[in-house]
Amino acid sequence: MTHEHSEELPHTHGQGVTQAPLPGSEALETIEGAWLRIESRPEKVYAAHYDALPFPHAVSHQELAFDLGLTAMAGDLKLNGLILRLYAGHQLLLEQRWNAEVLRKQTGEDDLTISAGSGLRVGPVVLMLHGHAAASLVDVVAVARRANGETVEARLQMPVFYPQSKTQLDFPLRGAWWCIQAADWSDMHKRELYSQPYALDFVRLNATNGFFSGDGQTLESHASWGQPVYAAAGGKVAYAQHDMPDMPPGLQPDPRIYRDDPRRLLGNAVAISHANGEFAYYAHLQQASLAVREGELVRRGQLLGRVGNSGQSPGPHLHFHLMEGPHLMIDQGLPVRMRHFTAGGQWFAEPVFIPTRMIVVGAASALESSA
Ligand SMILES: [Zn+2]
Repeated sequence: MTHEHSEELPHTHGQGVTQAPLPGSEALETIEGAWLRIESRPEKVYAAHYDALPFPHAVSHQELAFDLGLTAMAGDLKLNGLILRLYAGHQLLLEQRWNAEVLRKQTGEDDLTISAGSGLRVGPVVLMLHGHAAASLVDVVAVARRANGETVEARLQMPVFYPQSKTQLDFPLRGAWWCIQAADWSDMHKRELYSQPYALDFVRLNATNGFFSGDGQTLESHASWGQPVYAAAGGKVAYAQHDMPDMPPGLQPDPRIYRDDPRRLLGNAVAISHANGEFAYYAHLQQASLAVREGELVRRGQLLGRVGNSGQSPGPHLHFHLMEGPHLMIDQGLPVRMRHFTAGGQWFAEPVFIPTRMIVVGAASALESSA
């Protein structure tokens, strides 16, 4: 949030919280105290509502993630706590109170002092809840203490949106794959860029349902290695990176190979523009395996490249995410639903969320027949 707000210094009481309008009232209120300011990244929160899951009896649930930035405006502050509330209209769905101990874990900082003019990141804040009305607002109150012991507060209210992707996505792999990370479980993607909170990671299962044979030290022993990756939907190749080395499993590359370009963390990758504002990313592909080039138009089901272990990847796997624009650092990720796969013996012709730990079997015939 970057509101201009001229409040006189010094603000002595920090009573703004009790004076703020209740959630659901017309104006979203940001109390930017003279001492403490709070902002979020992203500014509007995109939530996922997992109402279509392959498990027939799974309870519908929802999830949202964001970062908070706290800035000490006029003097040193020590952060005491955060109060997080999630509302559906006026109805309080969830309240969490994070004390200093929780905040130390969340920030990785032993000392929660924010020196004057500097800031502290708290994140990711991940809220998940089951079987409720869709959230409409996140309300955050941060409480800090001045050097003289006085308590000051800042408040932020963020609208919550439930974006529906416009792109019809087919499962982009063939054979049996374990979804090792999906949006509904792991926080790992949520610790990265906000284009990726709803990313999926898939690992191929071999004939004995393992990821690899032997001790898994070689790339070739991994069932994922070299597996073909197909376009989940048609579009234009907006980005194609092909020259990054594949690392032995478990080894991280010299960070200099990223050249300060965050796209390179995703290794060899293809991004496809779907001509509706949405971009799909296929990442950690095998070096020199790309079958498409930038600017090329691709059909649904067309071969893009092969699964590799390039960039920041612990072992061969496919990373997939969908985002609402081309920029990894700015555009937000969209919840991903896919179709045309088998899971638990059932064929999914319509898009559903793929939950973490689900085994998904991609079918060649479906990919080819749906072009
Ligand atoms: Zn990933």
